[in-house]
Amino acid sequence: MTDHAIVATHVSKQFGDTVVLRDINMEVERGKVSCLIGPSGSGKSTLLRCIAFLEQATSGTILVEGQPLGFVGDGKDRRRQSPAELRKVRSKIGMVFQQFNLWPHMTALGNVSAALRRVRGMSRSEAEDRAMRQLDHVGLKERAGHYPSQLSGGQQQRVAIARALALDPTIMLFDEPTSALDPELTGEVLSVMRELAAEGMTMVVVTHEIGFAASVGHKVAFLDGGKLLFHDTPEAVFQKPREPRLEQFLDTYL
Ligand code: ADP
Ligand code: MG
Repeated sequence: MTDHAIVATHVSKQFGDTVVLRDINMEVERGKVSCLIGPSGSGKSTLLRCIAFLEQATSGTILVEGQPLGFVGDGKDRRRQSPAELRKVRSKIGMVFQQFNLWPHMTALGNVSAALRRVRGMSRSEAEDRAMRQLDHVGLKERAGHYPSQLSGGQQQRVAIARALALDPTIMLFDEPTSALDPELTGEVLSVMRELAAEGMTMVVVTHEIGFAASVGHKVAFLDGGKLLFHDTPEAVFQKPREPRLEQFLDTYL
């Protein structure tokens, strides 16, 4: 077993003729947080989606907890994973999106427990027990019976985090989790993420919250034009003088 939760090697992604990711090599150690920053359109979401296998890399390999994602074997022995193999690897990963995508007709508890019943085949009481623990984890036990329309954006995003955590992932991917929120609501979501990091969850976080990246990220990755320019400690990435493209990016976002 390696100490790496994620190892991406020579990952490239094209949509038709458009090259979106160019030869990405990135490792995330188990229990560590990597924050992924970069201009709009640089490929941040695509990289995260490849790691979650919501997109398939055009070339290259991704290992999740030491297990190949999507394909096994090399050269002419390379073959697609069976659905069961793929499910097993993907079950390590939880993902949270900018849009919370909660079911409007279900309560917070219903939203968190639904997948446990459907995907994991748990009984209602078992699923609701576990869902309640996760709602407690994100500080929303008292809101379990509320519908999304009765919750603030920050609370809805915390429900979405609880929903992902309920499936017991070892890696959590966040794609701009606070970008759809009013500024006064970002803090409560970031603080849940900060706690999760302190508990030792492996996380990859796409964010424009540079303060969060600098204080919570063990590493900061900077993507520009589909290329990973840095993946290093915040101290190394943010120290001056900075690479001009990073400097320009920070000028726009700080
Ligand atoms: P970011 O998250 O950094 O803003 P994205 O990964 O969303 O960037 O997108 C990177 C580039 O890939 C953009 O030019 C975008 O238009 C393109 N792209 C993303 N998804 C698709 C898709 N499904 N089909 C075609 N082009 C796409
Ligand atoms: Mg994006």
